[in-house]
Order: sequence, then C-alpha cells, then structure tokens
Amino acid sequence: MKTNRRKFIKGISGAAVATTVISSCSAPVKQQEVRTSTKKIAGSIDKVFDVIVVGAGLSGLHAAMLLEESGLDVLVLEGRSRLGGRVYTLDDVPGKPEAGGEYMGANYARMRNVVDKLGLETFTPEFDNATRPWSYHIKGQHITKDEWATHSLNPMEGDDRALLPHRMLWTLSDKGNPLDGHGLDAWLTPEFRKYDIPQDQYLRSIGFNEETIRLMNIMIHSGGMTRTSALNELRRYHVSGFNSNMTFGDGTSWKQVKGGNSLLPKGMAESLKEYPLLEKTAVAFKEENSVVTVHCADGTEYKASDVVCSIPMTVLKNVTFEPEITGITYEAINQIEYGLSIQAHFLITDPYWVEDGLDPNIWTDGPLERFAIRTKVDADQPESAVAFINGPESFKYRLMSDEQVFHYVEKMVYELRPSAKGKLKPIMIQSCERDIHGAGDWVVWKPGQVTKFGNHMRNNHGHIHFCGEHTAIMERGMEGAFESGERAALDIILTG
Ligand SMILES: Cc1cc2nc3c(=O)[nH]c(=O)nc-3n(C[C@H](O)[C@H](O)[C@H](O)COP(=O)(O)OP(=O)(O)OC[C@H]3O[C@@H](n4cnc5c(N)ncnc54)[C@H](O)[C@@H]3O)c2cc1C
Repeated sequence: MKTNRRKFIKGISGAAVATTVISSCSAPVKQQEVRTSTKKIAGSIDKVFDVIVVGAGLSGLHAAMLLEESGLDVLVLEGRSRLGGRVYTLDDVPGKPEAGGEYMGANYARMRNVVDKLGLETFTPEFDNATRPWSYHIKGQHITKDEWATHSLNPMEGDDRALLPHRMLWTLSDKGNPLDGHGLDAWLTPEFRKYDIPQDQYLRSIGFNEETIRLMNIMIHSGGMTRTSALNELRRYHVSGFNSNMTFGDGTSWKQVKGGNSLLPKGMAESLKEYPLLEKTAVAFKEENSVVTVHCADGTEYKASDVVCSIPMTVLKNVTFEPEITGITYEAINQIEYGLSIQAHFLITDPYWVEDGLDPNIWTDGPLERFAIRTKVDADQPESAVAFINGPESFKYRLMSDEQVFHYVEKMVYELRPSAKGKLKPIMIQSCERDIHGAGDWVVWKPGQVTKFGNHMRNNHGHIHFCGEHTAIMERGMEGAFESGERAALDIILTG
C-alpha cells in the first residue's frame, strides 16, 4: 500500500513548459498535483483516531509526526490535491523556483532538525532578498545602484543615503528597534503595546520623511503601512535580525532544500504511517461526547478524540463549528488578514538586458514593483523571470484572470524596458490566495490587533487545537509553522 502511495509521475520538461501556460488556480495545475495525488482519496473511515490533523502544510505535518512518534494514531486530511500548503516548488518552471516559503534561516532549529532527519540536502541560494542586484526605476527615471547614493531622488539623509531602495523597508524599520535585546516573545507583552499603531505613524515619530516612507511602502507585505501595525514590522525584523546573527557553520545564514523545498513536506508525509488523505476539504467540525467529527466537502467524515487544525484564518471563517466558536476567537477568525503577493512567471526567449545594457532585475516604485531573473539550477535550462508584486498593488489581481495578469504585467515590463518586447513568454501565475485553500502569504497584524488577538490565537475550542504560522509566538514563516505544530502536538501529548 505504502509503495503505491509513494509513486510519483515525473514532471514535464522545461521545453514542454515553454509551450504551456500553467495556471495556479484553474485546471492546468492538476498537471503538477497529479504527482502527489495517486489515488489517496478514500471514503470515510469508520474508526475514532486519536488525532486528526487538518492541513498538510509544515505545521500540520510536523504536529502529525510528533503525535505519531509519541505513539498516537494519527490521520492527516489535506484539502488540496498536493502537500505543502505555502511551501510549493514550481517543478515545471525552469529553475524550479519556490512559489512560497523559500529561505530557511540558520536559527530554524526545528525545521533544520527535520530536514536532517529526512536526509535532505540543502544549498545556499545565489542571492537572497538582500543581495540581489537591481536596476531601479523611480519616478520615471532609470537609476543604477552606483548612482543612488548621490541621486537627487534619494530622499534619505547621512549614511542612510547609501541604502539601496530594496533594503529600505527592512533596514530602516529595524533602526533602533525597541524589541532589540528582548526575547522573541516580547512583542506579545504589555510593554510593547504602545507600538501597536500604524507603521507610517511610527516611522514619522522616529523622524523619517514622507518620500522615504513612500518608498518603504512598496515592499510592505500587507494592505499598506496605514493598515499594518508597527509591532508587526518590528517583530518581523527582530526575528530576522536574530537569524542574521547566526550561521550554518559555513558562514551563511540562509539555505534552501536541494531539489526544491517541496521535498520537505513530501518527506514528512512519507514518514507517517498513514499517508495524508488529499482532496479532503474540512467544511465543518462537530464535537459530541468528547469525539470530534470532521466533515469534508466530498461528503466523507472522520472522527477523532482530538483535532489539530492548521487551516489559515481567512479560510477558517468559511468552516462551521458545533458548538459554535464565539468571543475573541470568532472575532480573530473574521478580522485577521494575510499579506498578499502574486507572481507572474515568464520564459525569456532572448536576454533583453544585452540590448539595453541595464541590470536585468527591475525594482520600481510603479505598479510592477519587482521583476527578477530566476537563478538557473543547471546551465541547460532556459532563462526565466518572475514579476513579484505584493502588498496593496497585488489586490487588483484578484479581479483578473491569469491571461489578464500576464497581459497587464507584460505591458508594464515593456514600458520600463522596451528591449524586452517580444522576449517574454508567459508560463504560470501563482499566488498563495488564488484558490479556496489559500490565505495569502503570512499573517499580518493590523494596528491594535496584536494587543487584541495576539495572546488568543492559540485558544483551544473543546478538543480542537489550533496551529499554523499565525499562532506562533517566537518564530515566523516556516519555522513559525514548525513551532506552532510542536505546541499543538505537545498540548495533546502532555494533557492526553
Ligand atoms: C511567497 C511566499 C514566500 C515566503 N517566503 C518565506 C521564506 O523565505 N522563509 C520562511 O520562513 N517563510 C516564508 N514564507 C512563509 C511560509 O511559507 C509559511 O509561513 C508556512 O509555510 C506556513 O505553514 P502552515 O502550515 O502554517 O500553513 P499552510 O502551509 O498554509 O498549511 C495549511 C494547509 O491547510 C490546507 N487547508 C486549508 N484549508 C483547508 C481545509 N478546509 N481542509 C483541509 N485542508 C485545508 C492548505 O491547503 C494547506 O496545505 C513564504 C510564504 C509565501 C507565500
């Protein structure tokens, strides 16, 4: 049985991709998902499991592994027809780019431990978010990185003028970070609630001018600075700073899984006694006499003494609970939002940068935001690029079909780089909220929400235990997912 489950259909080649437009949300994505969906869709199982884990992202899978290790009988239900959730390697795009969780930090102790345990290898990416070189296009002018420090459009003062535009949000938000020197859980303590105010208001209060704030806003991963708590950003850079001070032993701070980060959830799922059931969207939870029944969209139902629920908040608000969820948890489920981004992937049929002599990667204060060449995994693969648009600019794409997104993005690239005309071929649109199981990229706390909800995200509902990166205390991102899965599992193991 298990051998069958582990059979995967080989990916189509890069050459095949060149002629195929793959959508993230509509039918063609099945092409990829078939690989992980080899008839694991079962009917209801007539037994009461010790634990059902809902969601086969990193948090759910980690919880399942720990619960199983402690001798419990565990079943994982996953709504999509693939594993991994927000960890998603685009195997069919040249270079196998990561569409979700990309960089594993040196401080990701739990994640590193599981990567090692599963025998996965890692590598250091050529560039990370800080080191990638860009040609800047600000207020209609092309500016090279060497011109920026002395350029008239540079709004900063003193030493800050040397800071390149793509580093501004991170570096300036972290300047004099009041969380520095405190533990990673400090953001949840009353002492720092005074920073649970709009990020732009905070930046003004520490002396930044309007143009600096405008340029920082381009990289913000939320609905904009006015809709983001400064504490959200301070926490973000506090955690990153903690990581940057650590290395893997080879002097580097960030790694990826060789062959693609999706190999991690795949390995985790394969390590379980019972492989996760795919295409099992939980639509209702009902608890009666200390047994929780999980009702799925396909009409099947599964029972367990405890449930670990890793469904992101924006999806969870469509799920019904009996008894009902009320009070602060209900408010959190209905009010918490996630940062958004959309990626439009293109093949490059001819290197446009040879013609215009500028750096291939574009960073702009216009609606395109970022257009970057992907690192090739081997030299034979064709060149590909991604438009990565996040924050407020990404909202409008919710109203566009994939074809419209390609058209819109191409037009913007051509306006900035006429030499690219006719040299881009659409491959795939990906966004972590462009299907019913996706919430967005990661939780973003709006002003006042850390104070209101921060300490209530982990409240159990009867025998339902919540996990997911949005419930993490110390860490964020992929390690936050691991941390939260561990907490939920321990909650059951220690109290069970
Ligand atoms: C573009 C992008 C870049 C990122 N970069 C980084 C990075 O460099 N480093 C980093 O550490 N983190 C990064 N992250 C964040 C990281 O990927 C996530 O924080 C982490 O993977 C979240 O894991 P999770 O288990 O909490 O949630 P998810 O991965 O979302 O897992 C939840 C699972 O539940 C399933 N599900 C949803 N609804 C239902 C339902 N009703 N029934 C059954 N199943 C359901 C989903 O399909 C999913 O598989 C990035 C994310 C994105 C999107």
